[in-house]
Amino acid sequence: MLSKDLKVVFKKCGIKNTVQRQAVYNFLLKESAPISAEYIYMELTKTESESMNLSTVYRILDLFTRKGLVLKSNLQADGKSTYEMNHMEHRHHLVCVKCNSIVPIKGCPLSDYEKRLSESTHYKILEHHLEILGICPKCQE
Ligand SMILES: [Zn+2]
Ligand SMILES: [Zn+2]
Repeated sequence: MLSKDLKVVFKKCGIKNTVQRQAVYNFLLKESAPISAEYIYMELTKTESESMNLSTVYRILDLFTRKGLVLKSNLQADGKSTYEMNHMEHRHHLVCVKCNSIVPIKGCPLSDYEKRLSESTHYKILEHHLEILGICPKCQE
């Protein structure tokens, strides 16, 4: 995202615009799967000239989460919390039990089921969680 547009996003959320926050935001935008703070930190320090430490990444993610820009995922990578962009869309994930890689699944298989359930029970359905575990092609080799 252009830094001009980013400034608008930050301003709307009441976030002060800094180079480090821009870097973390843009990084999360590119990723489709939830990622850990450690991963962001490692990748950013590889490419960015900007010096950043891990606690800064955590603080930025925490801020973004509080402002609703980023979602803290229920999924974990090596026992660490993961984060993803809040695209405001409902998503599920496929998780490899061996390497913990996470693949987002397009669409929701439960939306029709929810509708039927709501009709038969007269519940107003609010949300559901679904996580599919498996072994990725790489780990099957
Ligand atoms: Zn795997
Ligand atoms: Zn769903």
